[in-house]
Amino acid sequence: MAKVSINIATGSVQKEEIIVGIDLGTTNSLVAFINPEGQPQVINDTGKGVLVPSVVHFQSDGGLIVGNEAKEFLISDPQNTIFSVKRLLGRSFKDIQEHSNLFSYKIIDDDSESLVKIKAGDKYFTPIELSGMILKELKERAEHALKTLVNRAVITVPAYFNDSQRQATRDAGKLAGLDVLRIVNEPTAASLAYGIGLDPEEEKIIAVYDLGGGTFDVSILKIQNGIFEVLSTNGDTFLGGDDFDRAIVNYWIEQNQLGDRAKDSSLNQALRLKAEEAKKALTTQNIFNGFVDNIPCAITKQKFEELILSRVEQTITCCKNALKDASLNITDIQEVVMVGGSTRTPLVKQMVAAFFEKEVHDQINPDEVVALGAAIQSDILAGNRKDILLLDVTPLSLGIETMGGLMDVIIPRNAKVPAKAGRQYTTSIDGQINMKISVFQGERDLVSENRKLAEFDLKGIPAMPAGFPKVDINFRLNADGILTVEAVELRSGVKQEVEVKPTYGLTDEQVEKMLIDSIENAKDDVSRRMLIEARTEGEQMVYTVEHFLEKNSEQVSEQETEDTQKLIGNLKSALGSGDKDLIHKSIDELNEFTRPFAERLMNTAISSAMKGKAIE
Ligand code: ADP
Ligand code: MG
Repeated sequence: MAKVSINIATGSVQKEEIIVGIDLGTTNSLVAFINPEGQPQVINDTGKGVLVPSVVHFQSDGGLIVGNEAKEFLISDPQNTIFSVKRLLGRSFKDIQEHSNLFSYKIIDDDSESLVKIKAGDKYFTPIELSGMILKELKERAEHALKTLVNRAVITVPAYFNDSQRQATRDAGKLAGLDVLRIVNEPTAASLAYGIGLDPEEEKIIAVYDLGGGTFDVSILKIQNGIFEVLSTNGDTFLGGDDFDRAIVNYWIEQNQLGDRAKDSSLNQALRLKAEEAKKALTTQNIFNGFVDNIPCAITKQKFEELILSRVEQTITCCKNALKDASLNITDIQEVVMVGGSTRTPLVKQMVAAFFEKEVHDQINPDEVVALGAAIQSDILAGNRKDILLLDVTPLSLGIETMGGLMDVIIPRNAKVPAKAGRQYTTSIDGQINMKISVFQGERDLVSENRKLAEFDLKGIPAMPAGFPKVDINFRLNADGILTVEAVELRSGVKQEVEVKPTYGLTDEQVEKMLIDSIENAKDDVSRRMLIEARTEGEQMVYTVEHFLEKNSEQVSEQETEDTQKLIGNLKSALGSGDKDLIHKSIDELNEFTRPFAERLMNTAISSAMKGKAIE
């Protein structure tokens, strides 16, 4: 294993090594790097194209395909072809329930607040693993094109991504064998690609309008001292270029009076592809003529604009709301940056420019701009840009221990100092009145391999069922490197605080060693963590169902009890097996079987028991 040099000041790698920027999109993903001339450039691996559709297909023989080839299976094998996985990243089933019909593959609906899983064949996958597969494909394409190993990356996420979605993105990177130097907001990256915010003297307020394949968001950013602050975000996570395609398809169906014939899914899909072709053509032409199975598919630009007008108006309403939330007027916005393939549509550009009353930035390819900006961010982190002052950053991640001895990062490595972050936790046992809070520093997934900084008890939590207490843990790292950890139980107000200096007694060599260890063990670490998470979920399930049976024996028939016990037995032996898939399968079966009991009783205990992450 080659030795890597790490810049202690930034916790990042010393130059000479290529660090890539990755735009992990809902529809398309791509990777960019800084070329020897110092310019950001997208990677086009031997004619495969720059954009890699974010689609994963599982073949019946166990093989895996990612990208364009996988996209073709969306029609022929929809159950085993996963698209839009970004929508599921870091989310629970409850979060996505109302849209679950949009996914052709099986999402495990375990009725809990734990993170979703997807079933393909007889295997269970988390969105983290699936995103990891896309990232691995991007990494391999970059390595192939650049003829060098690529181990480090900056990955972008939407500005509205929450903490859990960001953590999931980091983990996906780890699984792909990437050391994720930083998670950057997509609008920030797009702005950097236009050179906005590179000059630390610059103070600006900008709007970034991002219309992709299936999602729309607009962010208002304030740039000051090289820091990008998100003042507001707005949007619609189910509005994008796909809607434009659908509008054209519906128009053709009506024009050709296709009626029931259009229900045929392969014809519908063929029409959809033709519609996308028409839409793209209409960015530069005034009319499109084509055929699908002898069906004439013609449309004028004028008609197209009429069809999509209300959708584009919707995005303008979001822009208005974003301004309102930021308490700003149109005249406060100094620059408008266009992002996402769908902003190529002239009507979109015109309406956005008209609304903001200024010309928009659209010179850079809108589906590449985020990846290009991510590459610039990686270059800054690598310390290659002498003109840019690197702000003080945390050399190692700071977090706490959660169930199963896992490290839950609260302030990630490379975060700017001063930093503030927090998260909510809960208890795992009924009537738990004390909570031990252990603070750790380091990059490994198991706290036993990290450095312990402090430990304290939050005492006097009123006795409540497991999952009910709400414990906020807040980390504040000040400019002098002093970390204050505060824990407060919100229902009772019980509070406890501790102060430590994370860098105390830590040598540069130790920091370097901790980083190298984490990079070398990243993949194993994530796999171990996933197994521990599956076990924790399984153990809680056993605990919950056993309690449920005890308390409600009269409500469940003898046969049902017996069958449930059998499924509990299966789950218990799966827990001992170390096989993550088997554990998920057993949880799934027990869930399916016991769900009607809970519904029958309208008992909240069974569903509330798994709320939030629990600390032992
Ligand atoms: P995401 O960020 O969601 O992954 P992209 O930014 O890659 O998505 O945008 C994909 C969308 O852009 C698709 O709906 C695609 O049809 C649309 N698109 C690509 N090129 C054009 C074009 N020339 N005109 C209009 N729409 C386009
Ligand atoms: Mg995008």
